[in-house]
Amino acid sequence: MGSSGGIQIPNRLPLLLSHEGVLLPGSTVRFSVDSPRNMQLVSQRLLKGTSLKSTIIGVIPNTRDPGQDIDDLPALHKIGTAGVAVQVVGSNWPKPHYTLLITGLCRFSVTSLLKERPFVLAEVEQLDKLEQYMTPSTHSVSAEDGELGELSQRFYQAAVQLLGMLDMSVPVVAKFRRLLDSLPRETLPDVVASMIRTSNKEKLQVLDAVSLEERFKKALPLLNKQIEGLKLLQKTRKINPDNEKRVLSVRKGGVFPGRQFNLEDEDEDEDGDDTASLERKVHNANMPDAALKVCRKELKRLKKMPQSMPEYALTRNYLDLMVELPWSKSTKDCLDIRAARTLLDNDHYAMDKLKKRVVEYLAVRQLKTSLKGPILCFVGPPGVGKTSVGRSVARTLGREFHRIALGGVCDQSDIRGHRRTYVGSMPGRIINGLKTVGVNNPVFLLDEVDKLGKSLQGDPAAALLEVLDPEQNHSFTDHYLNVAFDLSQVLFIATANTTATIPPALLDRMEVLQVPGYTQEEKVEIAHRHLIPNQLEQHGLTPQQLHIPQDTTQAIISSYTREAGVRSLERKIGAICRAVAVKVAEGQRLAKTNTVTENSTQHKDKAAPPEMPIVIDHIALKDILGQPLFELEVSERLTLPGVALGLAWTPLGGEIMFVEASRTEGEGQLTLTGQLGDVMKESAHLAISWLRANAKTYQITNMVGGSDPLEGTDIHLHFPAGAVTKDGPSAGVTIVTCLASLFSGRLVRSDVAMTGEITLRGLVLPVGGIKDKVLAAHRAGVRRVILPKRNEKDLEELPANVRADLDFVMAANLDEVLNASIDGGFPGPSGSLTHSQLTSKL
Ligand code: ADP
Repeated sequence: MGSSGGIQIPNRLPLLLSHEGVLLPGSTVRFSVDSPRNMQLVSQRLLKGTSLKSTIIGVIPNTRDPGQDIDDLPALHKIGTAGVAVQVVGSNWPKPHYTLLITGLCRFSVTSLLKERPFVLAEVEQLDKLEQYMTPSTHSVSAEDGELGELSQRFYQAAVQLLGMLDMSVPVVAKFRRLLDSLPRETLPDVVASMIRTSNKEKLQVLDAVSLEERFKKALPLLNKQIEGLKLLQKTRKINPDNEKRVLSVRKGGVFPGRQFNLEDEDEDEDGDDTASLERKVHNANMPDAALKVCRKELKRLKKMPQSMPEYALTRNYLDLMVELPWSKSTKDCLDIRAARTLLDNDHYAMDKLKKRVVEYLAVRQLKTSLKGPILCFVGPPGVGKTSVGRSVARTLGREFHRIALGGVCDQSDIRGHRRTYVGSMPGRIINGLKTVGVNNPVFLLDEVDKLGKSLQGDPAAALLEVLDPEQNHSFTDHYLNVAFDLSQVLFIATANTTATIPPALLDRMEVLQVPGYTQEEKVEIAHRHLIPNQLEQHGLTPQQLHIPQDTTQAIISSYTREAGVRSLERKIGAICRAVAVKVAEGQRLAKTNTVTENSTQHKDKAAPPEMPIVIDHIALKDILGQPLFELEVSERLTLPGVALGLAWTPLGGEIMFVEASRTEGEGQLTLTGQLGDVMKESAHLAISWLRANAKTYQITNMVGGSDPLEGTDIHLHFPAGAVTKDGPSAGVTIVTCLASLFSGRLVRSDVAMTGEITLRGLVLPVGGIKDKVLAAHRAGVRRVILPKRNEKDLEELPANVRADLDFVMAANLDEVLNASIDGGFPGPSGSLTHSQLTSKL
């Protein structure tokens, strides 16, 4: 063999590792590539090259598992086929890949590997003469005598016999006939082996047959087998001559010769052919009859389609999804209630009520396996561990976990998929999730159900309802799949920041479990038990390398975060870990006293082991995280009359809210700014009306000395943080306090915050969200909180240490509010004697 003279392929070739097909010289095969090395080869070589030479690559059959391409190069097959890439098509869907059309030129063997990255480059030796595939027939082989001549003659005759059995009116068959006579005989084994129906294994044998004689010997039985198969088929179908045309089905489009004849019903032994393997997968997928029927129909269509048709890819993708779905694959539940309790406790600090309810829920599920219970919905501010509890539930059950983010979803096809007639159609998130987890009984966390949108494309909430309804979800039909999938084994858990915006029909299906925010102390515990160890591990650090003392954690919480949950606390700890990781990596100790606490043994100096923990004290904290983001701003801001501190509830937890008022000479106008809702505006009007009515009693005067606050005076009320819309009645008491302070010129106590709705007659009505509001006040360093008297029962929910730290004033009317809030009391109708009772230290 060897390449004595004639046309040469380059002796260095980039190698395409083919997982799916075998390229033989003289045929054209379509390859779909998506592994990293092959992708690099296409993008860096084929798409960048300009010369003809750069389109020549080597195709090496890779018999190993495609997944292994990522790391080590698998042991390569020794023989491959050099080919010209005649077409490159790239696509990004469903994942990035290229489709290459390659025409085989000649065999080569790999002599040495030059490099493995970014793609494989090898030194090769050409094994076949290249001319033979390009010049017309010289009948060189038949001229020789002996065994080879005889073999080639037999082969030629068998090919003629095969042709005789096929329908000449089909263009491909006619072309085959022409080629058979015009091609040199020595090319026939390769060309015929790639045209008739052969498995990859059989093609590989032909490829490996370097000597011509052996090649004829390997290919002849394949040709004969095809003839026999065809004979058999014709015999059975003789009754119906129409069937004969179906015997021949054209599969692969392409250039020279590049066609294959397939016997439709004879694919049991074809492990290489991809529709056949797809067919096998369909049968092994264990799908219900309805789905199987659809798949069979689609398979049939697929086989009749040329691969170049766009619809081929669509149908193919559909079938790939169908066989991948976990129709009957599930994990086995392993529920041990006591273990579940321990696991939840180990993973989460505090949140006792929630954990208790979750354990109950699991226990009921264990006793009664049918799943028709309500769906749990965890409601609370961000970062309080809702997702994390969901994940633990999956873990206790031994189930797979998958989170489906619903925030901003406003199209029902996001849930239920697009119909397949639609360009770029896809299955919805539920089906996609099932495909990802690969079992039909995962825990699905429907995250942020309160943020579902609505649009012209249908209401996603309605689609979700169908998913969650136990009466319907055993036959959930995704538009893309168009056959029912049984969701009844899926355990759904929902999360939300507020119930207010959850569509009512959906809310009705769910059992709401409130997850309130954490107190400072709880956060410190969570940080030390969970967040710090987790972050250390994620950054590859050990407690021997980094130590964060408790008071540092406290400082992080109060000066660098303002939140109900612990998410930014976790991020700040992450930032510290990153900073320390750099130091550790540099092999340095954080030098000098200012960053190391006194008790650390810096004097030992070089003798100190490198594992000395780096201790984060306040100075180190400032160095890493910068200036504190939040001061205890309360006391500073309340140094002028006309400012009061209210408490607000938002879906992100409780917050403190300043109310500012000013007055100027004018015509009695009230201006409100700060993005207020209607209810809030009404509260402001109510407050002014009440003050006008009671101006005499409280000796309030306006700018011109009269007793009507609005006479000759313009009033401006502002609620800072103007970008946030504020609404609700609970700012009533704050507005009254703020205005009373403005009109009287007396300061509001700097350590007081309040909440409560007011009536025209000066009563204080109860409001919601007390726990979150009080926690926010506590966070902000407030000492006294004024609450509606009828909210007294809510105080029981507060953690003991918060109750101990705060004075609570339970006010039934505005008089009591003003007395408790204005510095030095506020002389009212009954004089300054009837101070509200101080329910201190509950
Ligand atoms: P959510 O889903 O409520 O927004 P996450 O579950 O994402 O919050 O929680 C944010 C982070 O805080 C996670 O790393 C979680 O483990 C942690 N976390 C929250 N609450 C607790 C808790 N009570 N105990 C331990 N870790 C917690």
